[in-house]
Amino acid sequence: MNLRNYDELLDKAYEKIPDNVKKSSRFEIPTVEIRIEAKNTYITNFNKIINTLNRDKKHFMGIFLKKAGTMGELRGQQLFLKGTYKEQVLNKLIEQYSKTYVLCRICNKPDTEIQREGKKLFLKCTACGAREEIKEK
Ligand SMILES: [Zn+2]
Repeated sequence: MNLRNYDELLDKAYEKIPDNVKKSSRFEIPTVEIRIEAKNTYITNFNKIINTLNRDKKHFMGIFLKKAGTMGELRGQQLFLKGTYKEQVLNKLIEQYSKTYVLCRICNKPDTEIQREGKKLFLKCTACGAREEIKEK
């Protein structure tokens, strides 16, 4: 078998993968949509973001608010933050959360769950089977 044939085979194999599988292998967190009101910030698409991250809202908020250095709470479907924040700053914080608590460090897939063992947290990946201790920064 020459290399050209091999490439063609790979292309064919890829075409056979259903579209929904191709999509789920590309993990994209929605960027924040915000509304500033009375010098406070509302993340209006918070539900969409938390659903993509597939993590517990309380866990996310605990870390996110601490990093943002503010107080906040859920207000209906929106996340309320005391103070005004720029989109880029919030996106960055969400990205950091995702790197630490969502994406597998070995295969980089988001198919993970957080496991607690005493005081330690582990990120267990259901895609590749890796289990890595979460080092909180
Ligand atoms: Zn993995």
